Amino acid sequence: MSAVKAGIESWNDVFGYPVVTAELAPIGESYADDHVNYFIIDPNTSRAFAFADWRTNPNNGEIRGASVYFGAGLFAPFPDDAAESALAAPEQKPAIRSLQWHGQSHEPLCAMWGRQYQIGADVAADLPLTGAQKLERYVQYVVAHEIGHTLGLRHNFKGSLLPPSSSVMDYTVASAAIAQPTPGSYDRDALAYLYGSSTALPSQPFCIELESLSDPECTAFDTPTPDPLNDFHIPRYASYKVDLVSGALPPSSAALIVSLYGASVLGFVRSGTSGQAAAAWNAIFDGVRARTTAPAAAADALIAAVFRELYLEPTGLLSRRRRTPRCRPRLPRTPRPC
Ligand SMILES: [Zn+2]
Repeated sequence: MSAVKAGIESWNDVFGYPVVTAELAPIGESYADDHVNYFIIDPNTSRAFAFADWRTNPNNGEIRGASVYFGAGLFAPFPDDAAESALAAPEQKPAIRSLQWHGQSHEPLCAMWGRQYQIGADVAADLPLTGAQKLERYVQYVVAHEIGHTLGLRHNFKGSLLPPSSSVMDYTVASAAIAQPTPGSYDRDALAYLYGSSTALPSQPFCIELESLSDPECTAFDTPTPDPLNDFHIPRYASYKVDLVSGALPPSSAALIVSLYGASVLGFVRSGTSGQAAAAWNAIFDGVRARTTAPAAAADALIAAVFRELYLEPTGLLSRRRRTPRCRPRLPRTPRPC
């Protein structure tokens, strides 16, 4: 509970004076009350997600009656020694239930899914902290993220461009969340502008979800770095390409590798700077250009998949608006969450 309280009240540092105070709600209070914000912990440990909700006064934009749902599955323990136990294969996401009225459904504006649903769960191997300390800081990050929504902030998927993060409103890997569970420099500047203490817009990198369809540097759950192409996207794609060329993965998996991991590299071919486009283009074909240096079946399958993804039938970046399957196929090495 101390981590929850710390996450909520971490925003006081941003404002510079006490704005929010977390207290246990007395029996009999209703979270429909407009003048109080509620943080609700669902004891169901199969629910490893959180989301925020609120009502906005249409006359002046004031946020009232905000609430945060926090599933107890987010309290899943971290190991003391990250090397000895990563999380199991990603779980299938459960449905998020909500009230419907006369056919009108309501989707949460943000649903942050826990590490259980992420690819290759990153368990913060390099941090000299106990498992309990990691969990406290991770919970604090999730709580601060959701409270940030109730203060008026949107996602910022470019927080990771300023390591460990310039924004707690990014969806970030666990190690970055643990390294910095508090609001970042972008969050401070955005709230200063939003609440009128500054007329300057934040200068840090910023993008919302929709921009990830066209901006290759607008990525959730990427490794914190100012150069995500060379430090994250290319190495991730290359590791699967090595498995394909070595025969660890069959040629039939080439299309899936390109769709899941090559598409983000090809996004730089489409929309990166000229230098990024060249680097991405070379990285896509490194090791499979010549059929003499790579098994022909694997090289042919990968090159065909690349050109299909780039020019004929995109399945990754730039195509998500058209095709958002609930479950995607899985590679055998690191299963894809649904
Ligand atoms: Zn969010």
